[in-house]
Amino acid sequence: MACTGEDVRAAVHRVVETVREHRDELVELDRVIGDGDHGENLRRGFEAWAAAPTGESPAEVLKQLATTLISKVGGAAGPLYGTAFLRASTAVKDLAELDTAAVVTALRAGLDGVVARGKAEQGDKTMVDALAPAVTAAESAATVREALEAAAGAAAEGAEATRDLVARKGRASYLGERSVGHIDPGARSTALILRALLP
Ligand code: ADP
Ligand code: MG
Repeated sequence: MACTGEDVRAAVHRVVETVREHRDELVELDRVIGDGDHGENLRRGFEAWAAAPTGESPAEVLKQLATTLISKVGGAAGPLYGTAFLRASTAVKDLAELDTAAVVTALRAGLDGVVARGKAEQGDKTMVDALAPAVTAAESAATVREALEAAAGAAAEGAEATRDLVARKGRASYLGERSVGHIDPGARSTALILRALLP
């Protein structure tokens, strides 16, 4: 299985649906260790994309998603997710279809973008704790489906494990030790988004 631009569009539509379904859960997670806007931030951004999805190639679809998220999503997550999708787009520029290697390259580029922008390391209780293990897991997959399944599984575990971490980046870091015991909203949304990429 290789992913055409149409496949990527369909995947993003599934992400829109997931973000809609989990909006309140993400708001609640962010209310506990942040300011309670994460679910609504993401909902607004992905709905804006869904209202006018364009782009033919995988890279064009990802680029348009990135620019929409950067302009419509407030907070820390907008620029971080925007950068991730923009770097992913650049990494697969000019490809009509994404094979397994291209999907992994896009995921890796997305992670590198988040790290370059947010300067978080693994263990800082951010979306990086879901995305980094996801990329590593995808790298040993043989097919696109296997890569996405491995990424989603590792991201879910990584997000769950943020519960035990002390936040060192973003708004949750203001809580210090009091952030322990709660899942990071951005790690949770990353796991949800990766899961939704699978048909
Ligand atoms: P804000 O914190 O500005 O209200 P959101 O609530 O939309 O923005 O997003 C919060 C999420 O952003 C956090 O749960 C965390 O996963 C992620 N985040 C915040 N700062 C960073 C950073 N420097 N690097 C990576 N991720 C970050
Ligand atoms: Mg917030």
